[in-house]
Amino acid sequence: MKKTKSICPVCQKKIDAELTEVNGRILITKTCKEHGTFSATHWESIEVFNFAEKFDYFKYFGDANAPKNPEGCPYICVSCKNHVSSTVIGVIDVTKRCDLRCTICFSSFDEHEVNYEPSKEKIVEMLKFLCKRKPKPPALLFSGGEPLQRKDMPEIIGAAHKLRFMTILATNGVRLAESPELAEKLKRNGLNIVYLQFDSFHDKFYEKIRGRKLLKTKMQAIENCRKYDIEIILVN
Ligand code: SF4
Ligand SMILES: [Zn+2]
Repeated sequence: MKKTKSICPVCQKKIDAELTEVNGRILITKTCKEHGTFSATHWESIEVFNFAEKFDYFKYFGDANAPKNPEGCPYICVSCKNHVSSTVIGVIDVTKRCDLRCTICFSSFDEHEVNYEPSKEKIVEMLKFLCKRKPKPPALLFSGGEPLQRKDMPEIIGAAHKLRFMTILATNGVRLAESPELAEKLKRNGLNIVYLQFDSFHDKFYEKIRGRKLLKTKMQAIENCRKYDIEIILVN
């Protein structure tokens, strides 16, 4: 049903491949002259495959074997026009401060180090800079440290919302659990999604990784977000 390119799993040479529909799945079949024919499930669902086809960049940007790239993808990989992409989610670290001290944390809490914490004005400047990108990134992720250590986080969310970004907040959930008012304020200012650090349903993991029992806190944070209809994505 569709011809495409793939690579031989043995010699890694680029070879022709074909996608076919078999029992509601999409199968990819490819033959290497030296190593024979290989076949595997490419997509579990024909519906999802058809949906994803809408985002097939090759259709819009031309041939993967365009003459200016004689060997074609994937041999010359320098963000060619077939694969170049732009920022989808801009990530802004708003602080290094945190109310936890996780053993696995890569944020640095060295007290002798100058703490990185851009002012609200500086962050608004960053947002405006991102607005001018073409295409403008649709979403922003505020990260840290723990972003909710900042008292002005709702205002920062508000500024991003006014500039028509989808807003995402990565948080350990401690402040959200303590304060339904904070959840309400964030929602009111335009917060769309909370990426909630969530390791397990067992406190022994939190004690090991995060240094204290946190399951109750996490559940309370979820409760408070739900109350104000903030979408939650659990992250571990
Ligand atoms: S909650 Fe996040 S930022 Fe804070 S210590 Fe743990 S991993 Fe680091
Ligand atoms: Zn081969």
